[in-house]
Amino acid sequence: MKEKLEEIKNQFLEELKHISDINSLTVLKSKYLGKKGEITNILKGMKDLSPQQRPLMGKLVNEIKNDIEKHLNSKENEISEKEKRKILEEEKIDVTLPPRGTSIGTLHPITQVMNEIVEIFERMGFEVVEGPEIETDFYNFEALNIPKNHPARDMQDTFYISDDLVLRTHTSPVQIRVMEKQEPPIQIIAPGKVYRCDSDISHTPMFHQVEGLLVNETVTFADLKGVLTEFCTIMFGVDTKVRFRPSFFPFTEPSAEVDIGCVICGTKGCRVCKDTGWLEILGCGMVDPEVFKSVNYDTTKYRGFAFGMGVERITMLKFGINDIRLFFENDLRFLNQF
Ligand SMILES: [Zn+2]
Repeated sequence: MKEKLEEIKNQFLEELKHISDINSLTVLKSKYLGKKGEITNILKGMKDLSPQQRPLMGKLVNEIKNDIEKHLNSKENEISEKEKRKILEEEKIDVTLPPRGTSIGTLHPITQVMNEIVEIFERMGFEVVEGPEIETDFYNFEALNIPKNHPARDMQDTFYISDDLVLRTHTSPVQIRVMEKQEPPIQIIAPGKVYRCDSDISHTPMFHQVEGLLVNETVTFADLKGVLTEFCTIMFGVDTKVRFRPSFFPFTEPSAEVDIGCVICGTKGCRVCKDTGWLEILGCGMVDPEVFKSVNYDTTKYRGFAFGMGVERITMLKFGINDIRLFFENDLRFLNQF
């Protein structure tokens, strides 16, 4: 029996040499130590031995069994160690490889020009304020001297949400909201999105405006001319020609439109300026006393000027873009040029 055990052990060691993965190791383990394994069979045969032989043989079998287990364990460690190394080797990251190129985004041209406009007026002492894009009829029209049935309402193709709520057609309601809360002096600009039901080569249903308001006890039309002429020459260059042309707005009196010498032809006349040599870029005027009345300002004491401009129009003129819709198609080939 002792020889038989030696033989089993040697046979085991021989087979173990050829094992190189966990699955075969499990099979080998059950072949020797499993329920029907070689060692288990020997243990079963011990009942045929004499009582004197039994303890001796028992000890021997246990020694061999422990020995086999020890070999199995160390083989298992060896295999799992090897597999770990293999995984590390396969998943190794080469930190010296060059990275994939990432494309860096740019600000939308409208945002760039909007920021530039805001910056110019901030340098002149104007403070930025914002207001809601959904407005009541009062703030968008009534308080700005545009009562119901006023023909000026037709000039602004309004999106109505209900009888009393509209998508603001200009950023002027912000001026009313500020004046309601604050006594003069006031010096603000209100940049933001506005909405009109209109769409063609020079109109989109949503566009951007920057409006300005200055109210105190002494301001005159000359101050308005000075501020806007300064703005035009910073925005379009020191040699830019600027002219003020009489116009009408319900919320200012007197009112004017501001033209700059055509940036395409230099006032000679071309298709863009319709051969006039001039391009209209903003509207302005002295605040109508009716507007002051709606916010309970003393009209004998305070005076003010206001102006407003479309950011899309200024961007188109600055960069020579001929179709406003290009701004909102989000074609990267277009947008990346700025
Ligand atoms: Zn021109």
